[in-house]
This record gives sequence, C-alpha cells and structure tokens, in this order.
Amino acid sequence: MSFRADRLLLFGATGDLAQRMLLPSLCALHTDGLIDPELRIIGAARSDMSDGEYRNFARASLEKFMPAERRGRMADFLNRLSYQHVDVNDLAAFGPLAEKVGLPAERLAIFLSTAPDLFRPTIKGLMQAGLANNGTRISLEKPLGHDLASSREINDAVAAAFPEGCIFRIDHYLGKETVQNLLALRFANLLFEPLWNAQYIDHVQITVAETVGLESRVDFYDGAGALRDMVQNHMLQLLALVAMEPPSSFSADAVRDEKVKVLRALRRMESGESVTGQYRAGAVSGTIVPGYDEELGRDSNTETFVALKAHVDNWRWKGVPFYLRTGKRLPQRVTEIVVQFRPVPHSIFNGTKAKPNRLVIGIQPEENITLSLMSKVPGLDRQGMSLRQVPLDIAMPDAFSGKVRRIAYERLLLDLIEGDQTLFVRRDEVEAQWAWIDGIREEWHKDGMAPKTYSAGSWGPSAAIALAERGGVSWHE
Ligand code: NAP
Repeated sequence: MSFRADRLLLFGATGDLAQRMLLPSLCALHTDGLIDPELRIIGAARSDMSDGEYRNFARASLEKFMPAERRGRMADFLNRLSYQHVDVNDLAAFGPLAEKVGLPAERLAIFLSTAPDLFRPTIKGLMQAGLANNGTRISLEKPLGHDLASSREINDAVAAAFPEGCIFRIDHYLGKETVQNLLALRFANLLFEPLWNAQYIDHVQITVAETVGLESRVDFYDGAGALRDMVQNHMLQLLALVAMEPPSSFSADAVRDEKVKVLRALRRMESGESVTGQYRAGAVSGTIVPGYDEELGRDSNTETFVALKAHVDNWRWKGVPFYLRTGKRLPQRVTEIVVQFRPVPHSIFNGTKAKPNRLVIGIQPEENITLSLMSKVPGLDRQGMSLRQVPLDIAMPDAFSGKVRRIAYERLLLDLIEGDQTLFVRRDEVEAQWAWIDGIREEWHKDGMAPKTYSAGSWGPSAAIALAERGGVSWHE
C-alpha cells in the first residue's frame, strides 16, 4: 500500500528527544528537500503554547542541537510547524487537536515520543477524535514495556486502533548507517556468506559500552537496568542481523521474518552464563566520577553492566557462542560487533602460528570495518616464514567522503513519512525479545543474583572476563 504523509503529528513535542533528535532531523530533511513541501508538522504536548511560541521553542532547540552550517533553511522549516496543547489523559482535549490536525486523517503519520504509560490514553483519544483511521501510521518510541506481559498490553492497545502494517516501532539502532551496512556486507558480497556459519566462525562478540553514568533518566534507568535498557532492544537487533538467514528481498516482511526466526531460536539462558555489575566510584577518561549508589542517593540492586553468553539454536550457529556485553561508566564509548573466525586447519609455516581472522564492525563512535589478515613480514626468513596480523581497514566516512552521514532519526522519520516499515520492529520480534529477556531475569531471581561491583573506568566485574575466558575467549578491547 503506497503511503506518503501530508501531516506529521508529534506527541512529546517539547521533550528531550524532540529537541535533540526529532526536530533537528526533520529540519535536516527539509533543508535537503527530502520531505514534501506540503507536509505540515503539528507538535502536541502538555505545555500551553501558541504556534508562534512553539516555533520559537523549536528555533532554540535547533540552534542548540543542529550544526550552524545545516540550519540554512531553518526559518522556512519553522513555517511548517504548529502546536496544540493536549493532556492525553483528558479525552476532551482531542477534539481541538483533531481540529488543528484536520480531518479526515488518511495521510496522517503520528509519532509518540512520550512515556509508554501514555500510549493507551493517547490511542483512546485518537480513536475517539477520528485521528486513527485506516491509513494513519503510528510510530512508538521505546521502551515497549518492561517485560513480555506489559509489552503485550501495549501492543494490544495499539492493535485495537491500528493494523500491524501501520505500526512503526522504533529501535533507533536500525536507523544507523553502519547497522544497515551489516546487511550490505553480508548479502552484497560473496566473500562472507559461505564462511558465515559454525564451521568457520568460532564466536561473535557484541559490545555496547558507555562512559556516561546515570545522567538525568534516574527513575527510568533504576527501574530498568542494562538488560532491559540495552540488550532487550538494540543488542538483540544487532544479534539478529548478524545471525539471520539471507532474506529473499529487502522488504519489510522478508527482513523481519528472518530476524524473528533468530530471536525465537535463542536458547533460554542457564545460570553461569550471565554476569551483572554495578559501578562504584572511579575515573573515566581522567575524571573522577561517583558510584551508581552515590548518584542515585540510595542502595539499589539494578545492574549497570551485563555480560551474557548467548546461543542461537539452529543449524547455522550450532556451538557458536554470542558474547554480549554492555555497561555504563566503562573506559570507552564504543559499539562494535566482532566476528571471530576459526584458525586455519593446518599450518604450513613453522615460523609463526597464523592467528585466526577477525572481522570488527565499528558502529560508534567510529564507523569502520576492519578485517584482520595474516601477512608475511618482509625479510629473508632463514628461520621459517615470519607472519604478522595486519588490518584491512575501511573507515566509512573516508570511503564515502562528500556523502552526508545522516543520524538514525532522519532515516527513520523519512521512512515513517513514506510508510516503509523495513527498519522498524514488528510485534513478534519485540515479543520474542522480551520472552528471552524474561527468562534471564527469572534465572537471576532464582539464583538470588546481585550485581557485582566494578570501578568506574574499568571493563566491568572480573567475572565478565572469566565468563569469556572459560570459553577460551578474550573480550576485544
Ligand atoms: P521527556 O523529555 O520527559 O518529554 C516528555 C514529553 O511528553 C514532553 O513533551 C511532555 O510535555 C509530554 N507529556 C508528558 N505528559 C503528558 C501528558 N499527560 N499529555 C501530553 N503530553 C505529555 O521525555 P523524552 O526524553 O523526550 O522521551 C520521550 C520518549 O522517548 C520516552 O518514552 C523515552 O523513553 C523515549 N526515548 C527517549 C530518548 C532520549 O534520548 N530522550 C531516547 C530513547 C527513547 P510537557 O513537557 O509539555 O509536559
């Protein structure tokens, strides 16, 4: 069904995400002429503001969060904006909103950038006001629940008003260039696919490391923890992209059908296959920082670090562990995928042993792809050929200099406006993700597991190193 929105209704239009990401992304799309000149953007939030006041608010956000050289057409962009104050818990407030948006709402795209407990009243209000029609697309920000049961409740509430083909669940990692490039790397090159299985791959590592601590999301984070905040969504999506079978096309259903098979094949985690941690005071990049309990002002059992040894139970990945690790207050901000190949079956060189090849896909802060290869060290080799591991390096910004590198939300907002669901998460994926995460939490509960402490600025508790070492693996650092 072809779709192109003529109106975008943005709930949470005064929030942090709208200011830092959504308004700058929309302005960038406008500047580059990528959105229809007719598209109107209607902001909605609780604060009482006129259209003019909201435009001033948006201008201030763009000046703060958008590079000056990208703001050339900002004034023109601001003219697209209008605003309606709405308390979504007040059904009567949706009448004036519908008037502002204009009915019928066939070509309306809606973005809910609000807390998920507001989704249900928002949807009720939208339905009552005639803003949830057949054609309307709706996009939901994470977190979609805190376990499988709550995620189902949210999904049921949305499904009461919108068919699955109109629901766009955000995992902003899928909007990142390097994440999409993983698909290009795997499926547009002949080189990797024949080796991409248990016969040639020893293990996979996925790391999402943050240097920041609790920041401003105190209550949310303490109620969630690293497993639910990072692993349930971003890291499992990365794992699914690494492990999935080749889809028959780059269409929304073909890609998501393959991802969900991987998510359903995740083996329930056993005790001893996970480590949790919580940071204490330490130093990150030379700056002394307090511990999690000090930032929080009380004791807590919430994990700020988690390391897991996961298994995908299918033919392709039999016996290949996927090591996942994420945490706050780690030494570097880095998101990367490491594919560790097996050693050559027989060495003909008696000088140096060949190290197995390794493919490192850097997602942030550097977007690069490095394949480590063995090479001969120049020389006369009287004692046997001397070998050394050398990197075959592709820095994506250099390889594509002159191309604008877009932030994830630019891509995702444009896809929403144009109705393309490929980079959004389908209900069965979210629920398979939660089912696996719930299993891990049940094990933790059964084992009475409490997070081990680690110093801020370290790579987490030593037990995380031991988890990998027991399998003969070292974390890539
Ligand atoms: P936020 O800064 O707290 O903003 C919340 C927004 O919701 C504000 O615009 C607020 O309006 C509006 N709102 C609150 N109660 C409302 C009500 N009863 N009726 C109508 N509007 C109401 O939150 P945020 O950081 O932008 O995050 C929004 C969503 O995105 C959350 O689900 C969050 O988990 C998710 N998310 C955020 C980030 C991020 O980087 N910020 C990243 C990933 C996901 P007023 O200000 O006018 O009261």
